[in-house]
Amino acid sequence: MPKEPTSLTVIRDSANRYFASFVVETGAEILPKNNNSIGIDLGISTFATLSSGEKIFAPKPLKQNLKKLAKFQRKFANTEKGSNRRERRRLKVARIHAKVKDIRTNFLHKLSTKLAKQYHDIVLEDLNVSGMVKNRKLSKAISDLGWRQFRTLTEAKCEKYGREFRVIDRWEPTSQICSVCGFKGGKKELDVSLRDMKREWMCLNCGTLHDPDVNAAVNILNAGSQLETVEPKPIIKVEEATETELENQIQLSLFDIVAGGQSETLNRTRSRRKTGRKKSVANCESSTHPEFEQLSLFE
Ligand SMILES: [Zn+2]
Repeated sequence: MPKEPTSLTVIRDSANRYFASFVVETGAEILPKNNNSIGIDLGISTFATLSSGEKIFAPKPLKQNLKKLAKFQRKFANTEKGSNRRERRRLKVARIHAKVKDIRTNFLHKLSTKLAKQYHDIVLEDLNVSGMVKNRKLSKAISDLGWRQFRTLTEAKCEKYGREFRVIDRWEPTSQICSVCGFKGGKKELDVSLRDMKREWMCLNCGTLHDPDVNAAVNILNAGSQLETVEPKPIIKVEEATETELENQIQLSLFDIVAGGQSETLNRTRSRRKTGRKKSVANCESSTHPEFEQLSLFE
């Protein structure tokens, strides 16, 4: 420990895994300044497109494990309440969820660290993630990708390494402006999934053929460089265990961060489970709410 921890919390997650979570205040590890700037466009088919043209694809752990999850969810549903078998099967389902979360978190940690180390200025677009999660077609894909966690981690790492992290307004017309000549054409596409399907477009003014994601990333970078510089905060928290996250018991499951406060979705999932099992499987991540046992040793 770099310093005496201010708190230690032992957490048991729903997969019966134990975690010791420390809160330690540390100074930033300021990296030497460089002139690298990057704009990042987040999408569904491509997790992140950089203004440099690089495309980063995310693992889709939930999709891969969905069939398996469905099978064990069904087995769990067919057991008697309060029985030992039910507890065993609940644990099995919880373990698959935990695995999905671990794959996702690992990917996001590595990506955000790599970006924060490489670039001095990082610009993201402020996506209305909770609004988009209400769109049921998109919700599972978005929850699986973890945009919000990516933003949180990237911001924390920018603070840690003394980088500039900026978020531009989500109503900046990043997808409809030509990043080469600035010509504004076409209507604003609010649905990110539509933009993902359109593979390329040509600027009617200068004739540049654009990859829409790269064009958006360049526009995000340009919009971000016009924003005022914000002074980095001197104190950071260990990103795995901020106090707020512990209070909300969402530290261990990204999906709950995304689905947090979406009681509407949960209720719908519950009522649907009675009518059609197949459909409930698609949303089962939200119906199996992890119940954490929190044992605070000292504050
Ligand atoms: Zn143009």
